[in-house]
Amino acid sequence: MDGKLYDNHGRVINYVRLAITDRCNLRCFYCMPEEGITYMPRKELLTYEEMERMLTILAAMGIRKVRLTGGEPFLRKNVMEFITRLVAIDGIETVNITTNGTLTMQHLPDLKKLGIKTINLSLDTIDKERFYHITRRDELEKVMDTFHSLLDHGFNTKINAVVMEGKNTEDIIPMALLTKDHPVGVRFIEEMPFNGAGSNYPVLNWNHHRILEELKAHFPDIQKIPDPPNSTSFNYQVPGHQGTIGIIAAYSRTFCGTCNRLRITPQGVLKTCLYDDGVFNVRDILRSGATDEQLRTTFLEAIGNRAANGFEAEQKRRFNAPVSESMSTIGG
Ligand code: SAM
Ligand code: SF4
Repeated sequence: MDGKLYDNHGRVINYVRLAITDRCNLRCFYCMPEEGITYMPRKELLTYEEMERMLTILAAMGIRKVRLTGGEPFLRKNVMEFITRLVAIDGIETVNITTNGTLTMQHLPDLKKLGIKTINLSLDTIDKERFYHITRRDELEKVMDTFHSLLDHGFNTKINAVVMEGKNTEDIIPMALLTKDHPVGVRFIEEMPFNGAGSNYPVLNWNHHRILEELKAHFPDIQKIPDPPNSTSFNYQVPGHQGTIGIIAAYSRTFCGTCNRLRITPQGVLKTCLYDDGVFNVRDILRSGATDEQLRTTFLEAIGNRAANGFEAEQKRRFNAPVSESMSTIGG
């Protein structure tokens, strides 16, 4: 054994995406209905202590990287204290964060001190009206301030933009142009059906092929660059530009063969694939007085029974078919 954790398809599992809250201060239409979703009662959310214990067990099993997401992670009270404890867990080498950037800026100096290196900023448009239309909130200025502050602080900064027909395809080129003068990774993501609005599958008019065609039409000399291991994005660069451009085929699911990740929802549901509807509830096991060894065994069993890909996982959904839950209850 090499000390690594493998699933039943021989894929190394070393990454956990932890959604620390289902609450959010934006209402991105592809993620939540305008009126919001029914939030979990607070007592049903994992406490920070429970998250710390779970991650300590997972780190001992081989998890090396954690991404904090949500809902909006910076809405959860005392999040900085939690991050301080998280970075100290033995075995966790990398902690990244995905945020909408509205409440983030004040924390950047402390995040830097804690050794956080990469922050993903969700930003679908750089046009004020389109931002309002998509997020139903007037917060673009704050998010752009956060973007510039992230770069000023020297964070490895990625922008995640969901590409949507009739909403923001005009932004593809202007956002790709951010890579000209900034060392940022701008990633265009296919829309997925996790919109909290019932079975409302998007018609994928802008899949990864079409996004690439659009980029090639504007940047004929755009070049493919190597993709990092386990990358979910196909990566490109325009010669002379400081940053890079990525395309994430989140709905077409081109990356399942190297998937190294687990997801934990705010109420503690383990998902071994974004498209499954949950394998077991970590919170219930922890609160039943289980030992670390019992939890470890339960994780091992789930990791030993992963679907081969997102299509298989979607087909096997028991409770909630088709996909309709809000991404803010999963974390992206
Ligand atoms: N609130 C934080 C944020 O927006 O960055 C973190 C949570 S959010 C659910 C994580 C990511 O999921 C965001 O980048 C968001 O764009 C993406 N997302 C949400 N709903 C989506 C959907 N239906 N299709 C594709 N991506 C989605
Ligand atoms: Fe909130 Fe992020 Fe969902 Fe937008 S994508 S509503 S910011 S959780």
